[in-house]
Amino acid sequence: MIAPVLPTYARADVSFERGEGAWLTSTDGKKYLDFGSGVAVNALGHAHPALVKAISEQAQKLWHVSNLYKIPEGERLAKRLIDNTFADTAFFQNSGAEAMECSIKMARKYQSVSGKPERNQIITFDGAFHGRTLATIAATGNEKYLEGFGPRMPGFVQVKFGDLEAVKKTITHETAAILIEPIQGEGGIRVPPPGFLKALRELCDQHGLLLIFDEVQTGVGRTGKLFAYEWSGVTPDIMAVAKGIGGGFPLGICLATAEAGKGMTPGTHGSTFGGNPLAMAVANAVLDQVLAPGFLDHVRQMSLFAKQRLAELKDTHKGIIAEVRGEGLLLGLKTVVPNGEFVNAAMGEGLLTVAAGENVVRLLPPLIVTETEINEAISKMSAACRKLEAATTKGAA
Ligand SMILES: *Cc1c(COP(=O)(O)O)cnc(C)c1O
Repeated sequence: MIAPVLPTYARADVSFERGEGAWLTSTDGKKYLDFGSGVAVNALGHAHPALVKAISEQAQKLWHVSNLYKIPEGERLAKRLIDNTFADTAFFQNSGAEAMECSIKMARKYQSVSGKPERNQIITFDGAFHGRTLATIAATGNEKYLEGFGPRMPGFVQVKFGDLEAVKKTITHETAAILIEPIQGEGGIRVPPPGFLKALRELCDQHGLLLIFDEVQTGVGRTGKLFAYEWSGVTPDIMAVAKGIGGGFPLGICLATAEAGKGMTPGTHGSTFGGNPLAMAVANAVLDQVLAPGFLDHVRQMSLFAKQRLAELKDTHKGIIAEVRGEGLLLGLKTVVPNGEFVNAAMGEGLLTVAAGENVVRLLPPLIVTETEINEAISKMSAACRKLEAATTKGAA
């Protein structure tokens, strides 16, 4: 008999009843320190008073209206995002994959209305993750995600992450765009080599291609800047944003320059729920916090502190942790033991983390995390490491 909820996730046997800040309480009354943040979603932690206020106030007024009408909360959000990024325009949807779909459609349409309809191929990178729709699994290129789902949607070619020569060789008269996560999240917190994003920007400019950044995981303060591309010194033409921007409310956004968006005229794209007043009110409240003076400084300070403590942890538990990686509060531990064992051991100590590719354990605390909470997470991980060490020794004996 199939599970009542389609069993596409191997779920841990724990449920949560409530949360506050970086903490979750399970239905059996245990407290967990949440260094997963719903996979980089709860950027301001759980039940942040400003978000609770924003959604409650909006819920009293208006939840949904069609995009057939103007939505002032959305116009305000778009304007604020434009003022704080490279972008000139924004399209609202409900998830990361949808923001990617809009990005892909926009890039193809741009080439088409520029008189180059043959340019419909997008270059992506191994280890990428762009979502689970038919187009985004093709962009992601992971065989496990494609297997059994019929013909792979054409229009994507994949090259080795960080390999500039491979990108150059792959560009043809059919190439429309290059798509990359400024730091790969699901792939294992993989940071591209220095200067790589800049080199991609130059290639795009040379060849008339669009540069698309998938900042679904890296965006909204996660790396210590509002968006991770700000570290690179270059800007994309199109960018997908989701996860953190809704602070836990579903929201995906495609941001673009006026030039990149020029083909997206009335009727070319749409979303029933996208840009609804509830989502817009919450996202404006998220931005109030993230754009407040000192907020991103705090993220960077906590990052430095966490990295120091994690380096110590690695040195004391070399048999368990091989490497610390990442930027801001998008951190990863490459483990020696299977990463799933580390995630389970940490959960046993009351700490939530998330597994990723390359045998990495992701640490994605809410951006409001404190030094005290980082210290608590470190002691929980130390305890987990000791248990894993004891198990390994026993296994070897
Ligand atoms: C999570 C994620 C997505 C997909 O977002 P959904 O909201 O699950 O559709 C796309 N790209 C990146 C980089 C992500 O981390």
